[in-house]
Amino acid sequence: MISTDIKNFGILGYPVGHSLSPQMYRAAFTAAGFPNYNYIPLEVPAGKLYFAVEGLKSLDFRGVNVTIPHKTSIMRYLDAIDSDAMVIGAVNTVVNDGGILTGYNTDVSGFLAALAEANFLPDDCHAVILGAGGAARAILWALCKRRAEFITIGARNPQKANALANDFLNYGSVEGFDWNSEEFKEMIQTADILINTTPLGMFPEVDDMPPIDLKLLPEGALIYDIIYNPAETKLLRLAKEMGFPTLNGLSMLLLQGKEAFRLYTGQVPDLKLMKKALEKSLKLK
Ligand code: NAP
Repeated sequence: MISTDIKNFGILGYPVGHSLSPQMYRAAFTAAGFPNYNYIPLEVPAGKLYFAVEGLKSLDFRGVNVTIPHKTSIMRYLDAIDSDAMVIGAVNTVVNDGGILTGYNTDVSGFLAALAEANFLPDDCHAVILGAGGAARAILWALCKRRAEFITIGARNPQKANALANDFLNYGSVEGFDWNSEEFKEMIQTADILINTTPLGMFPEVDDMPPIDLKLLPEGALIYDIIYNPAETKLLRLAKEMGFPTLNGLSMLLLQGKEAFRLYTGQVPDLKLMKKALEKSLKLK
């Protein structure tokens, strides 16, 4: 007999083979007493997104996480978008309430919760963000919401850094720079936190790092790399050797997943178990 309390979830992207989400959510569902909740990778090429979203409704999926390249393009197929996702222009979680699809962006709360766990108060800080892509947008919005005093964006492409800064001028004091410029080198000398949102240093290119002279940063600045594979990037290793406090991307990944789980089930997941599942699947990669 088919159980009626089966619910389906998944990660929608292209590709999705590398994703750690299936292991993380399956562990959390089982621990929360939902053995009939399935979580599957949904590999959907860009041209098929509309049909995939219609399929989620037809097959009564309860929710999906969304990853590259669909975070922005999926928005046009949803019925409602929450306010964070609307400002950022990207959705990473979709919840299906009886055929009504609502999009959320849990990177915002995941990032802020990770900072809180590291005892870093973003209010009134000078934050430096490296990179101007999707994760940078979510982090920039999170910092504006928490009233960071000033946010400096440094990127290899200054046009993109400026465009991102301009999009958020109504929400805070934000400026974009070429990360090789003298102005940027001057700016980072007053940073309270430096956040790498580029993939430089991510597995397998573990010898890469953003072109930052850590010697320019003030003592005690938090060096935060949102990469989680490897757990210690070259940037974090050098920063640690120089005595800076450091933080990697695992807690943000975990805590954005916690928020998505809450949206899916109305419950708080067992974070220890989710973390264990994440670390186990990272070791297998
Ligand atoms: P994205 O939208 O593609 O943005 C990537 C940014 O990095 C862009 O500004 C891009 O510059 C820059 N970049 C890429 N390759 C570069 C290179 N070789 N040299 C210099 N700059 C480079 O990607 P995303 O979604 O923001 O994700 C970025 C990283 O964050 C990934 O490593 C991802 O795994 C990680 N992430 C972690 C979490 C977490 O929970 N811990 C959440 C989200 C993302 P151009 O525009 O010039 O190409």
